[in-house]
Amino acid sequence: MTTPAFSDLNLCPELLSGLEKLGYTQPTPIQAKAIPLVLKGEDLLAEAQTGTGKTASFALPIIEKLSKTPPQQNYRQVRALVLAPTRELAIQVADNTLEYGRAVGMRVMSIYGGVRLDNQIRKLKRGADILVATPGRLLDLLQQKVINLDHLEFLVLDEADRMLDLGFIDPIQKIMDYAAEPRQTLLFTATADESIEVLADFYLNNPQKIKVSPRNSTAKQVKQIAYGVDNSDKSEILSYLIQEEKWGQTLVFARTKKRVDELVQYLNKEDIYAAAIHGDKTQRERERMFKEFLSGELHVLVATDVAARGLDIEALPYVVNYDLPNVPEAYVHRIGRTGRAGESGEAISLVAPAERDFLKRIEQLIKQKIRLRPVPRIENGKRIEIEDFADRPMKKRPAKGKKQVKREQIEAYQPDTSKRAIRPGLFKK
Ligand code: AMP
Repeated sequence: MTTPAFSDLNLCPELLSGLEKLGYTQPTPIQAKAIPLVLKGEDLLAEAQTGTGKTASFALPIIEKLSKTPPQQNYRQVRALVLAPTRELAIQVADNTLEYGRAVGMRVMSIYGGVRLDNQIRKLKRGADILVATPGRLLDLLQQKVINLDHLEFLVLDEADRMLDLGFIDPIQKIMDYAAEPRQTLLFTATADESIEVLADFYLNNPQKIKVSPRNSTAKQVKQIAYGVDNSDKSEILSYLIQEEKWGQTLVFARTKKRVDELVQYLNKEDIYAAAIHGDKTQRERERMFKEFLSGELHVLVATDVAARGLDIEALPYVVNYDLPNVPEAYVHRIGRTGRAGESGEAISLVAPAERDFLKRIEQLIKQKIRLRPVPRIENGKRIEIEDFADRPMKKRPAKGKKQVKREQIEAYQPDTSKRAIRPGLFKK
């Protein structure tokens, strides 16, 4: 089957031009499959992971359908609800949905726990067409009658497997009791096991089942490596690896604009041609850097997550997490930039002791363990793994008076083996 173009998918011209502005040239496989089904009015049980473009696969057809029947009154009632397991995902989905719906004036709002209720209540009073929420906070607001779901037309359970893992079955069931029917319900999950089947049996009406393989199979094509390091040694270690292992083009992610700039300065001093992209750079500067990087002129591009959006590059050999993202999904997005199209790639993370928890959450998300190792010594371009953690890995610049990495700091994390929070039987009312 040839991949359709966005223009084959019956989306309105406003949405199509919005996608063009975002630089989306072609639908991803999940989008090609899901968009026509949602437009037709089907319920959906979709197996797709983060990074496959799943947000647009439900947001675009929902926006398309909502825009065809604009709300009658000025005050916007919630007509589509997306439930997401975490605050980070809720924010990300709301941000993306807002982008997709901007051209047709869609109002999108997110609510999640951990922030003051009164602010969210004030925001909600302004009304929203599409609400993205974590289950606990939404239930709270429903019970307080701050919000109602009487006009709901679409309900999306995003990352349903994670919501079950996090024990959200109870609030989800209660939320469902508030949600108007008939409605179209879409369930997205990275894994489909028995408890997902039961959830689908309960809440989906004759769903169409679709499945796509991850955009980037983390296990197969990308070698994931994590080095246990001290934060203060990161720039030196990165420069060492790039030079001694003779890395090809490398995309580096750092957490803040300041860290991006400082790293670029350091690498330039080390005679590595590196440049920065982040939110303080103008659009023109960013485009110029993207172009230089895509053409192969620029050796190392250092970026924040937001700035690197839209950088689609084939078969990049190295992606570096100079800082681990605190949102685990961002890790999957970042390393999805390497090992494309059957090429092999390496994703290298420099993990400071304070980032161990982030690594743990990433491992839980990708359901894979990433062994934390000491920085290797490089001899003739080859990695010599150092078994003795007390040995300094730096050959060129032995660090004077710097703290040694402690063995216990870089012991591998043991994944949580606890069982799912829900068992199928629990659904019986
Ligand atoms: P998601 O799986 O929804 O989290 O999307 C993963 C990333 O892919 C996001 O950064 C989107 O902006 C991007 N994306 C989604 N659809 C497309 C597309 N058709 N073309 C290019 N990028 C896309």
